[in-house]
Amino acid sequence: MTTESLADDETTMPERLRPVAELVRPCRSIVVFTGAGISTESGIPDYRGPNGVWQTSKIPTIDNVRHDVQSRERHWQERRQRFPEMQMKQPNAGHRAVVDLERDGRVSAIVTQNIDGLHQKAGSDPTKVLELHGSSHRIRCQSCGREYAADTIHERLERGETDPRCARCGGVLRASTVLFGESLPEDTLRRAVEASTEADLMLIVGSSLVVKPASQLPVVARKRGARLVIVNREPTPLDEIAHAVVRGEAGPVLDELVRQVLNRDDAT
Ligand code: NAD
Repeated sequence: MTTESLADDETTMPERLRPVAELVRPCRSIVVFTGAGISTESGIPDYRGPNGVWQTSKIPTIDNVRHDVQSRERHWQERRQRFPEMQMKQPNAGHRAVVDLERDGRVSAIVTQNIDGLHQKAGSDPTKVLELHGSSHRIRCQSCGREYAADTIHERLERGETDPRCARCGGVLRASTVLFGESLPEDTLRRAVEASTEADLMLIVGSSLVVKPASQLPVVARKRGARLVIVNREPTPLDEIAHAVVRGEAGPVLDELVRQVLNRDDAT
């Protein structure tokens, strides 16, 4: 079953989502898998879109962080400027719909490629949010692993530090995100694989599904018998193995889908 472009014919979005809601409703162990696309409606550009991070900002590699003071200083300076805006970003209807599904006891894990912390900000249980690529809201010492809240380090940058160091061991600090050339956090990946293996449905939202190993999780889930539902603006490489594909904007689609799954009175 594939739900094609919502503008293709006379059928309304609620009508198109009805069979998808039927698929989701019996499920009790749903893994929600999200990518940058769930956060574009919160004003955070995705990676590969026209204003994507890839085009607009120079992301440091792990080698830059380890060995290149100038590159670190440039990164901290950029981060100091961007931080207030980053803190102000708010979750959207898509993140909130995930919370509703979760509060109904249907979600076993939220596996996210995002580093923006918006699932937690929306009210998702932080213990269920598995951040495969880390979080830009935490800063970590490259040497001893001590973590700091991002605002603590921001205050130090504001006080004039240009290459802040760990207060415990003097090591190099960096955002607690996965940089090019690094592996994913082992424990988080293990939990994500476990959840995918045990899922009865994976709801994939706003991911281009090309970044490995994250993009293999839906394949794992599918092999172990889970249904796959993909919500995305454009086609993905896994559309052909999905049980349903909804082409549309994450926020309105998830809002309506979850409304129908939960049989809310205001369902159309
Ligand atoms: P991606 O940019 O590769 O793909 C995003 C996908 O979402 C695209 O297919 C796009 O068409 C779709 N999309 C965009 N807006 C949408 C919307 N409103 N509704 C439905 N679909 C929408 O993102 P990815 O697959 O998550 O991989 C990008 C990598 O970059 C990730 O590893 C992530 O760590 C990082 N990243 C994170 C953020 C964030 O935290 N918000 C933002 C940019 C990049």
